[in-house]
Amino acid sequence: MDDIERLKDAIGSARRIVAFTGAGISTESGIPDFRSPGGIWTKYQPIYFDDFMASEEMRRESWRRKFATDETMIKAEPNAGHRALAKLIEQGRMTSIITQNIDGLHQLSGVPDSKIIELHGNTTYASCLDCGHRHELGPIRKAFLGSGKLPLCEKCDGIVKTATISFGQAMPEIQMARAQDETMNCDLFIVLGSSLVVYPAAGFPRIAKRKGAKLVIVNREATDQDDDADLVIHAEIGPTMSKAVGVN
Ligand code: NAD
Ligand code: ZN
Repeated sequence: MDDIERLKDAIGSARRIVAFTGAGISTESGIPDFRSPGGIWTKYQPIYFDDFMASEEMRRESWRRKFATDETMIKAEPNAGHRALAKLIEQGRMTSIITQNIDGLHQLSGVPDSKIIELHGNTTYASCLDCGHRHELGPIRKAFLGSGKLPLCEKCDGIVKTATISFGQAMPEIQMARAQDETMNCDLFIVLGSSLVVYPAAGFPRIAKRKGAKLVIVNREATDQDDDADLVIHAEIGPTMSKAVGVN
């Protein structure tokens, strides 16, 4: 039996599957990951949350970067990897997708919001750090690129930031709790496209394993947790998942 057959088999015999996705599932949609050659961290140092809060110049730099790289994100479409997961969700075989991604592509592939757990937020909209009010990016982009205006909340005058979790910012508690619950109750946990180095997110595969789930890792290159997995496939996610789930 080859590895794809083994994956098919694992999917076929599982009752509650959880997917755990990272930047690697979206590279085939044209969004670079962080740590591969040419990835985002080879160009930029991250802006820490405290720095964002402390200085207007940092907030300006953050929005400047956001709108300089926005095009790729706006044009991106879900790929075969996203579609394979959407199909498993639709069939009721996959209970949820825990994602570190901020690109909104799982939603775009037709997965209902209620099945997606975003650990690092979402960059396709912004929110007020004080009252949580949602702000769309269009008007912010227009004002920032037009006159350099930094966004403030119209409801409470609070600082507005993309709805992502920055380094040094608190993790979203509700999502973390949901992710933990899903992880503890699944029987198959599939990691797709994550280098598994960003904690606490990278702790979930170990929790799944400890609770008796089967652990599968699909990633182009080796991860620190390959040794814990029942099946490791070092290959491209799209083609691998299309074959395993039967989608194009
Ligand atoms: P990462 O960049 O650390 O790791 C991505 C992994 O995916 C790498 O090991 C790489 O070898 C692998 N990979 C890339 N393309 C692949 C493909 N087509 N098939 C199989 N494997 C592939 O990403 P991470 O573990 O998600 O952690 C980085 C952080 O970056 C996360 O916190 C996330 O919020 C953020 N991020 C998100 C996006 C996005 O939303 N699309 C993009 C970049 C970074
Ligand atoms: Zn507000």
